Amino acid sequence: MQIYNTLTKRKEEFKPIEPGKVRMYVCGPTVYNLIHIGNARPMIVFDTCRRYMEHKGYEVNYVSNFTDVDDKIIKKAIEEGVDSEVISKRYIAECKKDMADMNVKPATTHPLATQEIGGMLEMIQTLIDKGHAYVAKDGTVYFRTRSFKEYGKLSHKNLDDLQGGNRSLLVSGEDQKEDSLDFVLWKPKKEGEPYWESAWCQGRPGWHIECSVMSKKYLGEEIDIHAGGEDLVFPHHENEIAQSEAANGKTFSRYWMHNAFLNIDNKKMSKSLGNFFTVRDISEKYDLQVLRFFMLSAHYRSPLNFSADLMEAAKNGYERIVSCVTNLNYLLENAKADAYLEGEKAIADQLAEYEAKFDQAMDDDLNTADAISAIFELVKFVNTNVSADSSKELLNAMKAKIVELADICGLIVEKKAGILDSEVEELIAARTQARKEKNFARADEIRQELLDKGIVLEDTREGVKWKHI
Ligand code: AMP
Ligand code: ZN
Repeated sequence: MQIYNTLTKRKEEFKPIEPGKVRMYVCGPTVYNLIHIGNARPMIVFDTCRRYMEHKGYEVNYVSNFTDVDDKIIKKAIEEGVDSEVISKRYIAECKKDMADMNVKPATTHPLATQEIGGMLEMIQTLIDKGHAYVAKDGTVYFRTRSFKEYGKLSHKNLDDLQGGNRSLLVSGEDQKEDSLDFVLWKPKKEGEPYWESAWCQGRPGWHIECSVMSKKYLGEEIDIHAGGEDLVFPHHENEIAQSEAANGKTFSRYWMHNAFLNIDNKKMSKSLGNFFTVRDISEKYDLQVLRFFMLSAHYRSPLNFSADLMEAAKNGYERIVSCVTNLNYLLENAKADAYLEGEKAIADQLAEYEAKFDQAMDDDLNTADAISAIFELVKFVNTNVSADSSKELLNAMKAKIVELADICGLIVEKKAGILDSEVEELIAARTQARKEKNFARADEIRQELLDKGIVLEDTREGVKWKHI
């Protein structure tokens, strides 16, 4: 598999440190609010990368943190008059719910920054001992950026250019730094903020040190892939490299993957610009599988512009695959022949060609856009090669292939109950009729029958609403 490596600015053949195993770290969200669909992009993209690698037979140790100590969390806690922990716990739970609804697998480990302070104190001390960090008068610990000779290698920035851009900081009160390029590892608490004891001051960690430490603890000093959105390249990932490599004396991560932005009107979707939709907003209008399909319909390194039209197109595209599988299920229920009929084996053999196309696209730096096109071609091939006479063996082979490829993309294309929408509607009508006739036993029976098939009913003033569990 080829992966575009931000570090070398080219596609490289992926070779894991340990054969058959992948150690992958994806920077997770800061939890002070519901996540927006821009945050969902790296979640969906790198979950798909993980799924594809697992499909190829790798065992993937996937670590993704929650940043649960941060200015924004503290601000929100003050606004609500509660502890920061109340805020972070609430939004971690909400984030996990959104992830589950987007069919993003839980990470092997989801570490929390606040639970890893001990490791951070240790790494900061190592950096001080090695001369890569120093303690300022007020107890702030800074990383001595120029002491790490390779600083700038990820973002391809030149230290002197950076210095120019940073000069204003020196004037703005950060003058306890030896150099404007230096960044914070540990900072003193302010009144009312959460803090931990340390040798330097009561305080809390800087953001970058968290990831260096959590990655080391759960994946080791050297990892295969480190990933996140492209806004993290500088300074976050550049600083992580400096900290980890200066402390451990080893290459931190071999491959660096970054997704491009999800935009609105060609501007980055972000909390600060206020131009965002939360995943929860989208879930009110669409099945989140449609959102997932939308994200994967573009290559992860291309900017993706969010629009109502594109979401509608994604809905149609996703439903095309779902209808094909629903139709296969219907044909399967009614098929007469079990084993391949004449000529069917040859058709089944052709299914592998579509999988090969799919793999070829995914092997090319996770080209999910082309991989989805391969699924569409497969759907078209299936639709033109099935009939009411097809054997179960052929129908099953076709269904298995579509479901398998969709599953690598994390797309659920088989309605759990295997029940058609029209069948649900018919049963609901029968239940309504039974209730009119005061035959409540029958009405309850129908409700239960639907529930067994994964459909829940809700009686509202506007009528009966239903959804898949
Ligand atoms: P944050 O909570 O802002 O640290 O973001 C969590 C993750 O979402 C990081 O990997 C960011 O790079 C990513 N991210 C934030 N906004 C966007 C966006 N508009 N498009 C793509 N990725 C984003
Ligand atoms: Zn990080």
